[in-house]
Amino acid sequence: MSTDQTTAPLPAPHGVAAADLAREAEQLLSSLIRFNTVNPPGNEAPAQEYLHAHLSAAGFECELLGAEPGRPNLLARLKGKAPGPTLCYLGHVDTVLANATEWQHDPWSGEIIDGYLWGRGAIDMKSQVAAEIAAGAALARSGWRPASGELLIAAVVDEETGGELGAQWITREHPDKSRCDLLINEGGGAFFDYSGRRCYGVCCAEKGVFRFVVTTEGRAAHASLPALGDNALLKMAPVLERFAARQPGYTLCDESRAFLAALGEDPADPASAIQRLRLQSPVLASVFEPMFGITFSPTRIRASEKINVIPSHAELKVDCRVPPGSGEEDVLAAIADVLGELGTTAPGAGTAAVGDRGYGIEFTERIAGNRSPAASGLMAAIATWVDEHDPGAHAVPVVLPGFTDSRHYRDAFPECVAYGFFPQRHQSLLDASPLIHGADERIDVRDLAFAAQFFCDIAVGTLG
Ligand SMILES: [Zn+2]
Repeated sequence: MSTDQTTAPLPAPHGVAAADLAREAEQLLSSLIRFNTVNPPGNEAPAQEYLHAHLSAAGFECELLGAEPGRPNLLARLKGKAPGPTLCYLGHVDTVLANATEWQHDPWSGEIIDGYLWGRGAIDMKSQVAAEIAAGAALARSGWRPASGELLIAAVVDEETGGELGAQWITREHPDKSRCDLLINEGGGAFFDYSGRRCYGVCCAEKGVFRFVVTTEGRAAHASLPALGDNALLKMAPVLERFAARQPGYTLCDESRAFLAALGEDPADPASAIQRLRLQSPVLASVFEPMFGITFSPTRIRASEKINVIPSHAELKVDCRVPPGSGEEDVLAAIADVLGELGTTAPGAGTAAVGDRGYGIEFTERIAGNRSPAASGLMAAIATWVDEHDPGAHAVPVVLPGFTDSRHYRDAFPECVAYGFFPQRHQSLLDASPLIHGADERIDVRDLAFAAQFFCDIAVGTLG
């Protein structure tokens, strides 16, 4: 893992040889994948101790802080010569599970085969952790220190089950140690083509979660005498049909408007953009369309506990995602929009009250979306870097349909500008997306090097 500049065969940005940086990122990622950190249970301690040793040796001040034994979070800082902003590179080291029988190669081998580094976490997101740490360590060993401010590397646990012991815990319990002004985390960066334009998504907002239950009521009876009962389950049939027919109309937020503008589209006309996108790539259209509004996905239904009893009560659970800025009133309006005549219920109903039209709505989760300004110095720096390293390509603000640990940082530090970005110029968004939480997760090693260079350049560009 030498970064000896005198023997480096390639140009050396900031005193860091590109080939050495690439090799260091590969070695870090291979090692990280070999630590099984499937969450639950996580068991991230050995991986975190490995990263702690690597960054300490490079000159970082490191600390392991955990809510529970065996699950420490790593905070590593490289202090500058004068006061200034804290730039934080955030990553989680836990992964979802992998079923080895579905994979072409062992999910915990960390091997490089045909130019790809394989394993669970190769995209989500040990790759980003490895690139961030390789960049930080190489810079530190080269003697670089921020002219002002500091570089903070945070490797956290427990993201895949919500971050309770990871980002949420560390920002709540150790705000002074985890506070940052600028944050780069997962959530964007793999390139996509739009009408001949090469684009890199920078995630600057995440949708919120407003899950709810639709309830119907009837009258119980013996199932052998159907006409004596009033079957609550059958009353769900029209509800399901309407959910199946369509999603609510578009509700754009500032960030989705900025996305359309960056694609060269009219922000007031998302339907045309989606139509064009669908002709080009139906998958890309399906990936981007949720940015433009509230979505409903009915996922579970439950009625009678017994096969021979006509249900007097039925429940349909709906996973609902809302753009940042939208809330319960907007969801109720969207329910009315989709269910039409069926869609009347008392606004703000907190309990399963059955409305005039025969069903009730009960919210079970209300988490608003989160965001950072799409226009900022950090966004400008990312856009410049993208254009320099993939000439003519654009950095494009995107809204993530799901959420990441960024929400905990935005909650804890409202002034923090947080983006999701891990640049990939060889493995496209379409190539990478199915591998996340899927079989055969792997990363093009050229992208790992590309990203490591990005994290090197942005640290130096931002902190001096
Ligand atoms: Zn992740």
